[in-house]
Amino acid sequence: MKQNTHPQYDVVTLTCSNCSATFTVGTTATKGFSVALCSQCHPAYTGAQSIIDTANRVSKFMERQKKAEQMRTGKK
Ligand SMILES: [Zn+2]
Repeated sequence: MKQNTHPQYDVVTLTCSNCSATFTVGTTATKGFSVALCSQCHPAYTGAQSIIDTANRVSKFMERQKKAEQMRTGKK
């Protein structure tokens, strides 16, 4: 029979990089990995709106929305 066909399955502790919650998960990953969001802090689970504003894109969008609203109300 073929030997060593299955990867090593380990139980590791993961830490969420957003809320620092720790989880125990089973994995065959050999290198360490992390999660950016988890079930403790993801908006889909918490119901709260929390946006991770990378490169200021959300605030720029909000600015544009505000300008557009001002233009709309100014014309009428
Ligand atoms: Zn989290």
